[in-house]
Amino acid sequence: MIDKIYSKLQDERVKRAVEVQSHVRYELKRFLHEKGFVEIPPVIISPLTDPLRHETYEATINYYGHRYSLTKSMIFHKQLALIPFEKIFAFSPNVRLEPVHARSSKRHLAEFTQLDLEMRDATREDIMELVEEMLVHVIKNVKSRFSLDIDVPSPPFPEITFQQAYSKYGKDFEVELSKEMDTPFWIVDMPITHREFYDREYKEGILRDMDLIYPYGFGEAASGGEREYRYERILDRIKRGGYKPEDFKLYLEFAKRGIPRSAGIGIGMERLTRFLCKLKSVEDATLFPKVIGEPGI
Ligand code: AMP
Ligand code: MG
Repeated sequence: MIDKIYSKLQDERVKRAVEVQSHVRYELKRFLHEKGFVEIPPVIISPLTDPLRHETYEATINYYGHRYSLTKSMIFHKQLALIPFEKIFAFSPNVRLEPVHARSSKRHLAEFTQLDLEMRDATREDIMELVEEMLVHVIKNVKSRFSLDIDVPSPPFPEITFQQAYSKYGKDFEVELSKEMDTPFWIVDMPITHREFYDREYKEGILRDMDLIYPYGFGEAASGGEREYRYERILDRIKRGGYKPEDFKLYLEFAKRGIPRSAGIGIGMERLTRFLCKLKSVEDATLFPKVIGEPGI
């Protein structure tokens, strides 16, 4: 294990990718500050974290009898941070102990960082427009510095609904479309069964949410949406999602007191780096990857 990690530390591709990511972070911050966003410190442990729609092993800590989870996403904290602020972002370290079969996607690590952002009173379209402009800004500013072999995409990016994509390409539509496209694109309107209870339902069983997908087979870049913010609706969605309301008691207490209406998105930094550097796997987009099913440091 040590030899493998040591040789990774000498790998020029990894060195370059980490340098690219460092500049990408700088450009993302610059862009968001200019748009009036406030960077909030990330939350690492909390009794409240994203349940996620897919299976991961639980990562919890018992500390003086209080139960904390390692952050899987900062969704609930983002909503609460909009009480004092109008626009926020965080570089949020997430721990998701993904099952071993996820490794073959080349897009999954057990520890990664999301650029997680949220805007009060925003619509899905506001976030899509912001992200398109942000991606263009980042690519323009890092492309020449690192001679990246990548086109600057031109907004608005193409958009397809989940339903259209599913009918045309079947259940592997995301992979198929990602391979076929030569520009980033959006998949919108996911069914309620595919996402968590915090994304806003706007017609029977369909959510006001979206995924950004990279072209050339690099797959999912980001997920986001408009959020549910009304107590009764959240409670209903928790129940319909098959959860026990008492497991989300804390969140429901905040919702009762009032959570701002918002929309936002989370963009994986390792996946963005992988796309920009055209790496085979996210495992090469960071210095100390927590590779699924392998020991790491
Ligand atoms: P999600 O809301 O679950 O889609 O997560 C938001 C974003 O974080 C995704 O679109 C990815 O870019 C990134 N992400 C999620 N899970 C992982 C993972 N296990 N490893 C690396 N990046 C991830
Ligand atoms: Mg997603």
